[in-house]
Amino acid sequence: MKPASANMLCQNCRETYWTLIRQLGHVQLPALRSIMLRQASIGTTEHAPGRGNAPLPINTRAQDLIADSEAWLAEQAGKIRAAYAGYAWRKAWYAIISNRHTILNMSTAADDYANLQRIVRRNEQALTPEEAMVIIGSCPKCGHQATSTPQAETWACPDCKWQGGVQAVKAERDNKLWQLEYTGKPIEVARYLAKMDIHCTSSQIRQWLTRGKLHATPTKHKGEYVFNLGEITAMLDCHN
Ligand SMILES: [Zn+2]
Ligand SMILES: [Zn+2]
Repeated sequence: MKPASANMLCQNCRETYWTLIRQLGHVQLPALRSIMLRQASIGTTEHAPGRGNAPLPINTRAQDLIADSEAWLAEQAGKIRAAYAGYAWRKAWYAIISNRHTILNMSTAADDYANLQRIVRRNEQALTPEEAMVIIGSCPKCGHQATSTPQAETWACPDCKWQGGVQAVKAERDNKLWQLEYTGKPIEVARYLAKMDIHCTSSQIRQWLTRGKLHATPTKHKGEYVFNLGEITAMLDCHN
């Protein structure tokens, strides 16, 4: 166990910590629970009881996330008062919310905060539709593709567990964009870049093409080019 001083949170972390606690009980757990219940009730209407033994298509991922989230709440509540550890999640969450000072000054606060960050990030990812996820780059340690929610600040590799800031991963990716080509129409390259959280419009790209600002090579298909992604982002940097 670390000395208590190593577990002190700075003002910034204390505020983020508190926001995450509120988010967990106020937004994420209710949302995850409704996903799970919805799936369960779809299951019961589709499979009449007694007819075959098709398992209920309960979203096991949502179930795991709920279990982890509730375990975290129970642990914290139990640290406020041992009896609180047995509370149902909502009561545990209320106990935490009404003991702000105790929670923020807990000798284990830094570790609790780190654990909560991981939990909230995983929940957020599960609650974000696939098409809203952005490719921020790849893991600096193992090369695994790094996808996250657009608002994430840190990223953890699901493969090798490497952790770091999203900005650093993105910067690394952007350095390599000059080595990347994309073949397609302006609208397609714009959509592809949007997946990386780089935003430009197809009309912007068409304009740069007309003005000779992009050195994209036309292919034999009408309206299609081989684009250099570094060149497009460099144009964006000097126009935004
Ligand atoms: Zn801090
Ligand atoms: Zn990795």
